[in-house]
Amino acid sequence: MLPISYWRNRKIYTRLLGSRCKKCGAEFFPPVKVCKKCGSREMEELEMPKTGVLVSFTKLTEPSYEFEEYVPLYLGFIRLDNGVQLVAPLADVVEEELKPGARVEATVRKWAEDGEEGIIFYGYKFRVVKQP
Ligand SMILES: [Zn+2]
Repeated sequence: MLPISYWRNRKIYTRLLGSRCKKCGAEFFPPVKVCKKCGSREMEELEMPKTGVLVSFTKLTEPSYEFEEYVPLYLGFIRLDNGVQLVAPLADVVEEELKPGARVEATVRKWAEDGEEGIIFYGYKFRVVKQP
């Protein structure tokens, strides 16, 4: 297993890395090795936009134990500005703000902690963009 500093230094958690088909231009997140649209294996890395809109969400009141401290856990179904759709946890939730079409942005947050080894996992979560 690689030391956590390796991953931190790579800053992989601050980027939403997907892939794009060189043949037909289809974009995917998470990245795929074979294009789901045309079957081409000529894929390239592509950073996804960090903003999009909320399509819908679900509220989990009994997630698995790693996420107990985040109850209720909100999962958003998000359409990024390039049209790619994904499911991601939501942060800083004010339930009244979770409306379809609400602008959201990616933010790096603590996801879970491994109690025995004290390892903290980071990942992206999305939050509603506050209107000025
Ligand atoms: Zn393709």
